Amino acid sequence: MFSYWEQKNFLKYDLIVIGSGFVGLSTAIHFKKKHPKSSVVVLERGIFPSGASSKNAGFACFGSLTEILDDFRHMSEDEVLGLVNKRYMGLKEIKKKFGKKELGYKDSKGYELLEESQLSALSELARVNKMLKGLFKEDVFSEVKGFKKYGFSDSIKMVIQNKFEGELDPARYLKSLWDLAGKLGIRLLNGVNVSELNKDTGQVLAKNSWDGKSFEFHGRQLAICTNAFTNQLLPQEDLNPGRGLVMVSEPLDFKISWKGSFHMDKGYVYFRKIDGRLLLGGARNVDFENEETTDFMINPKIESHLDRLANEVIFPGREIKWDTVWTGIMAFGKKKTPIIQQVGNRAVIAVRLGGMGVAIGWQVGKDLASLISEK
Ligand SMILES: Cc1cc2nc3c(=O)[nH]c(=O)nc-3n(C[C@H](O)[C@H](O)[C@H](O)COP(=O)(O)OP(=O)(O)OC[C@H]3O[C@@H](n4cnc5c(N)ncnc54)[C@H](O)[C@@H]3O)c2cc1C
Repeated sequence: MFSYWEQKNFLKYDLIVIGSGFVGLSTAIHFKKKHPKSSVVVLERGIFPSGASSKNAGFACFGSLTEILDDFRHMSEDEVLGLVNKRYMGLKEIKKKFGKKELGYKDSKGYELLEESQLSALSELARVNKMLKGLFKEDVFSEVKGFKKYGFSDSIKMVIQNKFEGELDPARYLKSLWDLAGKLGIRLLNGVNVSELNKDTGQVLAKNSWDGKSFEFHGRQLAICTNAFTNQLLPQEDLNPGRGLVMVSEPLDFKISWKGSFHMDKGYVYFRKIDGRLLLGGARNVDFENEETTDFMINPKIESHLDRLANEVIFPGREIKWDTVWTGIMAFGKKKTPIIQQVGNRAVIAVRLGGMGVAIGWQVGKDLASLISEK
């Protein structure tokens, strides 16, 4: 039961954003900047954002060579270039906005490990560089001739460098967003699980995490930024969840001879070093069917696949011990672009961020905020 004061002051807003990941926070920030007098609240079911934004691997990437080649098979050249451009510009924008130090951002370059069966990608390297020249003004991809010194297993036949990729600490990025949201006077309410919404009236039913009781908010506008969990509120035709696993090792008792953000297996597997440890994740492709879920469980098949890669391919002959293992949930569709649209008289949506939300989340929120303002 709410007090008179709570009902009068806490339940009605000009904009209610549902979901406090990168996209929800960016939407709230951009809207509030445009409409400083408006009241804006972000409702989040978890103590922290509980989807992908604080669970990811922190790769500031826009596509490895084989990933881009794979995209060319399903998309037009303009579409692929558009995606790469959006991701790269997104990374530049957050560096400029929040500062590299605040984000824990390192321009450490991206790398891709190629096995024998993937060597054919090398014959396409020059063509891809040429296509990307308009965006980057110089070659993006190059062969790393002296890669043997990295000590990967003999199954690795070549390493490709991507000059423009980097890495960051995703929770520091979120902290920067929280700080900015706070400065602007945006309210962030955690532990509020939205169970129903009315996209035409702006009504939002939520559950209190401490007593499980339902209550009602009202927004003049609603922004739905629930990514992989959207189907529970507002079913979308082309949106499927995709779980991702990340593992961080105990501190290593040897020196790692490489640095940067590394990809394997068309980008499905990724690793980097953090704080003298190995961070390794991905491999959804080992069990696609069971990873299409919003359940945060750890899939033992994927965990052991990654463990084997660590001990046999990345550090052959070593026995890596794991300190922290977690999962997060992404959202995918047949199309690689996010859904950003109006869905009712009072509601807009920005979801389906895929595996590149670090790069595009800020801009997606900006686009969603302009969509609300245009109305
Ligand atoms: C394991 C993993 C690794 C990744 N690695 C990278 C990477 O290295 N680089 C990269 O660019 N991207 C990576 N990504 C993808 C990136 O993290 C996402 O694209 C991005 O975080 C999506 O942001 P979002 O705000 O759309 O969604 P989310 O961060 O999922 O935010 C949605 C929020 O909505 C909340 N919510 C959902 N339903 C409700 C409800 N009913 N009521 C209230 N709140 C609700 C959730 O709790 C969640 O906090 C990775 C993702 C995962 C899972």
